[in-house]
Amino acid sequence: ACLGAIEAAGPLNAVSAGTPEKAREMAAAADARLAAEGDAAPSLCGIPLGIKDLFCTEGVASQAASNILSDFKPQYESTVTQRLWDRGAVMVGKLNMDEFAMGSSNETSCYGPVVNPWRAKGSNRDLTPGGSSGGSAAAVAADLCLGATGTDTGGSIRQPAAFTGIVGVKPTYGRCSRWGIVAFASSLDQAGPMAKTVRDAAIMLEGMAGFDPKDSTSAELAVPDFEAMLTGDIRGKRIGLPAEYRMEGMPADIEALWAKGADMLRDAGAEIIDISLPHTKYALPAYYVIAPAEASSNLARYDGVRFGRRAALGAGDGITDLYEKSRAEGFGSEVQRRVMMGAFVLSAGYYDAYYLRAQKVRTLIKRDFEQAFEKVDAILTPATPSAAFGLGEMADADPVKMYLNDVFTVTVNLAGLPGVSVPAGIDHDGLPLGLQLIGKPWGEAEMLDIAYAME
Ligand code: GLN
Repeated sequence: ACLGAIEAAGPLNAVSAGTPEKAREMAAAADARLAAEGDAAPSLCGIPLGIKDLFCTEGVASQAASNILSDFKPQYESTVTQRLWDRGAVMVGKLNMDEFAMGSSNETSCYGPVVNPWRAKGSNRDLTPGGSSGGSAAAVAADLCLGATGTDTGGSIRQPAAFTGIVGVKPTYGRCSRWGIVAFASSLDQAGPMAKTVRDAAIMLEGMAGFDPKDSTSAELAVPDFEAMLTGDIRGKRIGLPAEYRMEGMPADIEALWAKGADMLRDAGAEIIDISLPHTKYALPAYYVIAPAEASSNLARYDGVRFGRRAALGAGDGITDLYEKSRAEGFGSEVQRRVMMGAFVLSAGYYDAYYLRAQKVRTLIKRDFEQAFEKVDAILTPATPSAAFGLGEMADADPVKMYLNDVFTVTVNLAGLPGVSVPAGIDHDGLPLGLQLIGKPWGEAEMLDIAYAME
């Protein structure tokens, strides 16, 4: 059914490379396993999943939606995807995304933009599914698969989940191995599940998570049975509403949604507490210094020699021309912008003024959360400052406008915390909106339980 749905949904452009043969093979193996193991088979056995193009999948195109990795077929499998296959999950294809996961609208992809399966009431205008995990969000929302992997460096799981009415979980930094996932900003990147319901996301997260000696930042912690820990009973839970997230010019729909979410939790027996996260306003600038800095370093390896695309050289061209031409042809404009910004903030003379200062701000943001979590069990905020916007609407504008999309999500990555976006209502145009719950470090189970009560 999923393979048929993928074929019929071509115009969404959510799938960058379908893997129907592999899917049939894996499904047959899962059937055999279910027949042999019965109820003892893992809960992901036979479940069709889509994989963001950022994950290396053995023998299957893995391009991070970039021309610089054209034709790159890894000889190895990422740890996260390997864990999913070990549990019997079935890969239906690789999913479209922003190039190197840099973007909030899936418009920086070398495969072209993804179309959100949702439309505003009475409108034919194509909307963005958000980004960078836009293909994952659209594929799940359009039932092309039952779940998808995403990655989240500054909101790339939670924002597209909110724009497409699904659940997206960004785990605590270190919960899922980053091994075999194309690196964007290594101190912020985390893989996570995107699914229709909190329960599905909980099952998938358990499948993806766990210690991996191949990622030195992966945590040596047992993975809880997230599904079994969903009770829906949140009586006595303390939920914080941070004053600083009440941004000036916040649309009335978002404001109302946030209030409705708080009421819903209060009605379910939670205590709503006003809190303060005073350094919030510095988060976005700090993120847009740190993430490009790490990206410029991580992307130095794409030099036209070791992976993917190599530019044609003219007579007399040397090694520097090879690097320059390959990178100029292979990287799109947003990626080039990030590499330049990153190289600039790391350069001698500017390092202290920008990079080091951003790292200090990061520490202050982390401390804000530590202090807040002395008083509350979770924090409730909007997931995004608006509903899905039109394709082309922001991409053509000032890039900083696009960056403002991440205002509610980047703090979580800077602090290494878990966050989940839960569908929470629709706006005046009938488009889905999401609320974000932020949990304590390693507190995914509690966070998901609260999210479960909101569904
Ligand atoms: N939109 C943010 C950026 O462009 C976040 C991306 C992400 O989380 N991968 O950097």
